[in-house]
Amino acid sequence: MHPSLSAHRHTYDRILDMTKKRMGMDKIEVTPESLEAGLKSYSYYECVQCKQPFFGGMKVCEAEEEEREFKKEDLVCPGCIPLNP
Ligand SMILES: [Zn+2]
Repeated sequence: MHPSLSAHRHTYDRILDMTKKRMGMDKIEVTPESLEAGLKSYSYYECVQCKQPFFGGMKVCEAEEEEREFKKEDLVCPGCIPLNP
């Protein structure tokens, strides 16, 4: 669970929904156990522009990027990423 999202119950419900959909895409059967594992293995961010949670990738990939400087302004969903400036 992303710490900045944990305070928002509504956001959490949306993330649950997105996780279920994502698991469907990955052909994982949704059970309470697999859902919990899914919530831990996928990471979500809140878009700084539209304030909607979006899928940020698998948490395993995140570790590799840890050294990269992470700016909060960069947390925009695919729908809000500006096209070539
Ligand atoms: Zn957005």
